[in-house]
Formats: sequence, structure tokens, C-alpha cells
Amino acid sequence: MATAGKVIKCKAAVAWEPNKPLVIEEIEVAPPKANEVRIKIVATALCHSDLHYLVEFTPKENFPIVLGHEAAGIVESVGPGVTEFQIGDKVIPLFLSQCRECRFCKSPKSNHCENSAPPVPIKAEPDSRFTCKGKNLLQFVGTGTFSEYTVMNQIAVAKIDPAAPLDKVCLLSCGICTGYGAAVNTAKVEPGSTCAVFGLGAVGLAAVMGCFAAGAKRIIAVDINPEKFEKAKVFGATDFINPKDHDKPIHEVLIEMTDGGVDYSFECAGNVGVMRSALESCVKGWGVSVIVGVTSMQDIAARPIQLIAGRTWKGSLFGGFKSKDGVPQMVKAFMDKKVKLDEFITHNMTLDQVNDAIELMKQSKCIRTVMRVSPQ
Ligand code: NAD
Ligand code: ZN
Repeated sequence: MATAGKVIKCKAAVAWEPNKPLVIEEIEVAPPKANEVRIKIVATALCHSDLHYLVEFTPKENFPIVLGHEAAGIVESVGPGVTEFQIGDKVIPLFLSQCRECRFCKSPKSNHCENSAPPVPIKAEPDSRFTCKGKNLLQFVGTGTFSEYTVMNQIAVAKIDPAAPLDKVCLLSCGICTGYGAAVNTAKVEPGSTCAVFGLGAVGLAAVMGCFAAGAKRIIAVDINPEKFEKAKVFGATDFINPKDHDKPIHEVLIEMTDGGVDYSFECAGNVGVMRSALESCVKGWGVSVIVGVTSMQDIAARPIQLIAGRTWKGSLFGGFKSKDGVPQMVKAFMDKKVKLDEFITHNMTLDQVNDAIELMKQSKCIRTVMRVSPQ
């Protein structure tokens, strides 16, 4: 291919500073080094974690950065030592890698690959793969998909079915695997159980879909934005609660509704108060509450008796999926019509409109916006 081995100049949305609109710039993307793959990004979605980084977690030294991590694309070229990928392969970039060699990859108990890119880069790498106007740019969680091209280590790339539509399966790069897996892998929801999902963005809706797939008989959908309830129904929710409609603390409402509390609860809003409510909504004896939402601003708190009474509080990263194994399986599940994706997409845009997508998410007016980055 004409571009292999050369620097590519292309378009990317650069976050120069915290909490400021992204700027569409021409950037330079380095050729892949040993064990790396350069990917032409075809479609990328916006996830709340991008927004969290931009507006909530904001030390200036962690900018400029190219955000975006929920994407799908095509291999443009490969570096020395890469045998698993070839030019033209359809792939999904992974913010959580699977090296298959570290002790976490070798254990069936965890998906926390030790060789994953840090969630928050400490400082710009001297050999940055992205540069713009003479400055190195960071790649968010080692990905950086708000760019026509990105370079990633092969341990953080999943090869997928060549027939998969990239503008849909990009959602499996983060949010949908996260919520779905939180239910089926982390909580291991049992048939006939009662579940509650707090926060009905793409992650929470995917948790609803996971609870339904696992055979839950009752799925209580909780959100302060009642516009989300219609979608939750599509994914299998049976009951809908807006905390703003109640004077009592929301866990008391759920305990009353379920004769003592739910079997499983999921926090998908990224709020420590909601994390506590989700735990306290669980039944004593065996209730399991899973934290999926992310915030780095505050500590969680709960009375020890909540856990002494037999509840379990867990966290889930990427739905507990070992990423390189799990993502192609989820793509297959979508192709086999066992997992929904279209229903999460409320807006289609192009990368130039990324600031509009950010605004929609800030105002809770979208589930997922998929942005077309390059023609396929
Ligand atoms: P989103 O913004 O689309 O959805 C969040 C939802 O929570 C919205 O519908 C909002 O109305 C609702 N909400 C806000 N406050 C609430 C409250 N007090 N009670 C009930 N509902 C409330 O976000 P998303 O993209 O679906 O992401 C959800 C969370 O998951 C974020 O915190 C994100 O960072 C996190 N996340 C975690 C992982 C992981 O691996 N653990 C991966 C991806 C995303
Ligand atoms: Zn994400």
C-alpha cells in the first residue's frame, strides 16, 4: 500500500485543553513500530468516559490528547513482528488489551491485562505516534480514535468477521460489552432473578440487555431522565423508576417493590451516591451490586453492616471480558442476532460534528452517536 512505512497526514479532533471544544486539525500519524498495527478508523462513537476525561478529570498536563476509544476500522499497515494481522483486516481497537502472557491474562479470574495502556497517561511519550503543529499528542487509553488513523499495539486489537458492519460493531469496543458483560460475566445473573439498573445510557441499557439474556424475570430500570425508559423497554426492562418522582430514598422504594431488595444491581451512572443506593437496594443474604460507572472525584461510602449482612460489592471493567477473545464473540452474537446494536444508535454524524455529539451527551439527549470517520 502506498502509505505503508510513511507518516500519514490526516484529520483528527484534538482536545488541546480540558473542558474546551475539540478542534479538527491535520495531524501526523507515525508508521507502526514492532508489534504495532496502524488502523484506518471507519467509525467511532462517543462514550461517557471520553466526556469524563474532558470535563471532569482535567489536569492540564494530560493534554493535548486525541480522545475516542469506541471504534472500528481496517488495518492500513503492520509493523515488524506482526503476524496476526494483515492489511485490510477489519478490527476493533481495545482500551483493555489481552497480551495472553501476564498473570492476569493467564488467570480465568480476571481481564485486567497487566500490559494495558494506563487509563490516564502520566505524560506524553517521547515517541508519540501522533503529532500536531510540532507537539506530541496523547492517545486516550492507548487508542485515540477521533482520528482518521491510529497506531496501536497488536495486543490491543481484535480481528473481527469481515462481514461485520463497522458503523454498528464499533459500539462493542466499549459501552455495550461493558454493560452486557457486567450482567453476564461479573454478576453472573441467574434465570428468574430480579435486577435493578441505575443509569440508562448505552452502558446501563446494555446491562439491561445482559440481565434479559441471562433470564432475569424482573428488570427495574432507574434513571432521573424519564426519556430513557422507552429504550429500556426495548432491551427487556419491566419496571421504570424515576428517583425524582419519590420523596423516599430510592433504595427504600426498590426494597418495598421487591419484598426485601433485588438480587443484582448495577450502577451505570458514575455517581458515588448512586453507587451506595445500588448497594442498599440489594437483598441481604446474597445481593450483588456491581459498580460500572466511573468517577475519580469522590470516594464511595457504605455502612459495613450492608456487607456483613451478606451483600457483595463488586466492580467491573469492560464487563469482565478478556478483550481479544470476547469482542469477536460479541460481534458474532450481533451477526447471529443474539445481541442488539442498532437500537443504541440515536444519532449518526461525521467526525467534524464531534462537538455536537459531546453536547448531546452532556444534555443526556442521546444514547450513542456514531461518527463516520473515513469511507470504508
Ligand atoms: P451516559 O451519560 O450515556 O448515561 C448515563 C445515564 O445515567 C444517563 O441516562 C443519566 O440520565 C443517568 N443518571 C445520571 N444521574 C443519575 C442518577 N442520580 N440516578 C439515575 N440515573 C442517573 O453514559 P454511558 O456512556 O452509558 O456511561 C455510563 C458510565 O459508565 C460512565 O460513568 C462511564 O464512564 C462508565 N463506563 C465504564 C466502563 C467500565 O469498564 N467500567 C466502560 C465504559 C463506560
Ligand atoms: Zn468507553
